[in-house]
Amino acid sequence: MKIGLEIHVQLPTRSKMFCSCPAVGAAGPNEHICPGCMGMPGTKPSLNKEAVVIGIKIARLLNCSVPDTMWFNRKIYFYPDLCRHYQITQYETPIAQKGVYYLGKKPIRITEAHLEEDPGTVTRSGDGSLTDYNRSGMPLIEIVTEPDLSTPAEAREFLTALLRDIRHVIDLPDDGERTIRADCNISMAGSERCEVKNVNGLKNVERALTYEAVRQTKILKAGGKIARETRHYDAERMVTTSARKKEYAGDYAYVCDPVFGKVDVKSIMDGIEHKESPKNMVARLVSEYSIDVRIAEQIVNTSVGLAELFEHLAKNVVADMALKWVTGPISSSWKALEKDVVARTADITDIVIRQRDGEINDVECAMLLKALITGKDVDAVRKGGADLDALIRKAIEENPSVADDHKKNDKAMNRIIGIVMRESGGAYSSSDVVDAAKRILDGL
Ligand SMILES: [Zn+2]
Repeated sequence: MKIGLEIHVQLPTRSKMFCSCPAVGAAGPNEHICPGCMGMPGTKPSLNKEAVVIGIKIARLLNCSVPDTMWFNRKIYFYPDLCRHYQITQYETPIAQKGVYYLGKKPIRITEAHLEEDPGTVTRSGDGSLTDYNRSGMPLIEIVTEPDLSTPAEAREFLTALLRDIRHVIDLPDDGERTIRADCNISMAGSERCEVKNVNGLKNVERALTYEAVRQTKILKAGGKIARETRHYDAERMVTTSARKKEYAGDYAYVCDPVFGKVDVKSIMDGIEHKESPKNMVARLVSEYSIDVRIAEQIVNTSVGLAELFEHLAKNVVADMALKWVTGPISSSWKALEKDVVARTADITDIVIRQRDGEINDVECAMLLKALITGKDVDAVRKGGADLDALIRKAIEENPSVADDHKKNDKAMNRIIGIVMRESGGAYSSSDVVDAAKRILDGL
């Protein structure tokens, strides 16, 4: 089985790709349109440089080469989702060319990634078709992989890792305003490939591919042939349905777009600062601080900000203490800290240094960190902590077998956690109860 993906990511620019209409925040259909993105005669598109900068950042993430100059093409087709009757895209000179992205140790080759504009959305209703042009002209990058993925689960894993990296290096907010969708190409051994268009969401990518693998295998086993075609995924029924015979590039007329001329990419590229991708950060934390890869993954997955705090503490205190406090009380209160982490880093470092130097013990250190992060008074945290400890000790006394079971099985303490959560009526966060129960049971 061979799987290749075409991933469309809407880029986080402030305005559309070739006009100054805002890219997000439309109150209703056709709010963000102008003569330019409506293709009125006499208008001339102008290129949004921000989209080129973001394209270069993605090219670098994919280990692709970037041409010194590039141009745009017109892909001519007639459909109501684009008023101009052609889409501005790239054909001969994509902004990212021939790269590779590693999934663990496995290389997944990247054919190319090109910039293009999104068309509008057409909704069919009882009265006919409704067209909303808010999306028309939104900047997109389309990333095309070689068919190097071997299973639907691997395709999902690849997409998960890639999207985490893309989100970080281009600062793509996860606010639902910008869509990410994938076209999934799949072929069974020696057979034609089918393309499932416009699949939204990681789970759906895996489901659509699994459905196709089963469908195609059945046809081949019965002696049939797979027709090369485009299919749709119906997320509600979890099936794919035939849409049309697959087009080939030759079915569209691609012509060079004379409006932009040659774009000097090299001069734009020189001033760009690139952020380290989360994937590279995990690898670096493992090698620089000798920490376990799963723990490095866990920290970076919680947040790159948490990983940066870990590095700061590791450099200013020591790595194993940094790890202990970052994976313990700091990560359990991360939601409260996330926004102010930069402003509080110095105070957090001071507390951990005092613990390292023996001025305060572990319990005191945890309490001070918690007070700092949550903004609560130290005495209130101390009293809350003491009350919580008392509740846990009482629950253990009433269920004496748990202490023995805990030595054999980590899950045994769930009984204590359940009792305490119930009796305290939700006064403590579950992560606080888990931390305290573990600390007390470990100490018995
Ligand atoms: Zn516009």
